[in-house]
Amino acid sequence: MNRRDELAANLAEVRARVDRACAAAGRDSAEVALLAVTKTFPAQDVALLSELGLTEFAENRDQEAGPKVAEFAALRPGAPARWHMVGGLQRNKARTVVRWADQVDSVDSERLADALAKAATAPLDVLVQVSIDGDPKRGGHPLPDLPRLAEYVTRKDELVLRGVMTVAPLGMSPRQAFDALHSAVTRLRADHPTATVISAGMSGDLEDAIACGSTCVRVGTALLGGRRLASP
Ligand SMILES: *Cc1c(COP(=O)(O)O)cnc(C)c1O
Repeated sequence: MNRRDELAANLAEVRARVDRACAAAGRDSAEVALLAVTKTFPAQDVALLSELGLTEFAENRDQEAGPKVAEFAALRPGAPARWHMVGGLQRNKARTVVRWADQVDSVDSERLADALAKAATAPLDVLVQVSIDGDPKRGGHPLPDLPRLAEYVTRKDELVLRGVMTVAPLGMSPRQAFDALHSAVTRLRADHPTATVISAGMSGDLEDAIACGSTCVRVGTALLGGRRLASP
């Protein structure tokens, strides 16, 4: 099978999973965006996914993403694409990240919010990355402190708070984790009406996330196959 057919088959399977999960939850599939996580895969794959109709792509390393985004733009000039940064981010990378990222999904501290606001040349969409169990190794801001960081982000003119992102913790059922996030975001939306996005669910747990209100699933492996390079 050529790569295009392989990606088309994977995409059909992922869309079917999303549709089934939405049907089971009584939700409309149009409420759940599909974000293709293309880390470790070449710009040619992004070009094929673009031909197949995808428009939202994510990377987790600044050094890899910058050149890839440029190469994609050269391969498919004018093709609609929005790029997300979903990886842990050092403050000193803010300036280069805003050159390629349309949205930063991994804002987990006031200091990073400061750096991105300073680097932004146009209003930048951001998500606050939340840690549901508070484990610092997996990234994210502790859930109980979400309202404070959200308020801080909102006060920055250069940043637009679009919602939250999370990776399910290891020592907890995904449902329990995603439910906790959903409750917190429901309260958050009362004060921050632009915060509509819940980015939760990956290849292994997208059904659980959709059952718990996810509006964006981030899918790498199920779309593109196994990653050969370990991507931290
Ligand atoms: C790699 C990655 C994903 C995709 O994970 P898969 O299990 O390959 O679908 C999603 N979110 C983040 C933050 C990632 O780094």
